[in-house]
Amino acid sequence: MSSLENRIEVLHADITTLDVDAIVNAANASLCGGGGVDGAIHRAAGPDLLAHCRPLGGSRPGEVTFTPAFDLPMKAIHHAVGPVWRGGNRGEPDLLRRCYLQACALCAQHDLASLAFPAISTGAYRFPRKQATRIAVQAVREALAAASQPARVVFCCFSESDAALYRTTLAR
Ligand code: ADP
Repeated sequence: MSSLENRIEVLHADITTLDVDAIVNAANASLCGGGGVDGAIHRAAGPDLLAHCRPLGGSRPGEVTFTPAFDLPMKAIHHAVGPVWRGGNRGEPDLLRRCYLQACALCAQHDLASLAFPAISTGAYRFPRKQATRIAVQAVREALAAASQPARVVFCCFSESDAALYRTTLAR
């Protein structure tokens, strides 16, 4: 297996355009779509995604739900409900970490080789970006060290400044 760092990539892109086996959605607890990356994924996956998600009855912060990708070319979408930032003393760091670990674990379960993450919780949910990036990098390194799948992880950033933050954090 190649070294950990060769298995991690940072891209500045719209996550719905990536050539990967699975993408992670920064979902809300209803799993019925919303704004930000959630809205972009639901628009691109089409109405069958919402029809599939509605009967699931929602999810909770720190949990990740597997669905097909419908009209998107990926094999799967991993819907991670990140924590809403409420100052940092309500378990937010641990909930965010669990999102990254569980999304990677689903790749091992479903034999998915590549996985792309958006910066979960750093938009509408207001998690401080630097801390969120450190948590994301640490959790993904841990998951990759423990399993051969996903073989490749993409941190998909929606701005060049986010991509720079990820590159700096990975260089540490
Ligand atoms: P949350 O509610 O978890 O904070 P948001 O969707 O508001 O989720 O934001 C999470 C991150 O996703 C932000 O960094 C935002 O810039 C980014 N984002 C928004 N749209 C896309 C997209 N199409 N592809 C990748 N990242 C995106």
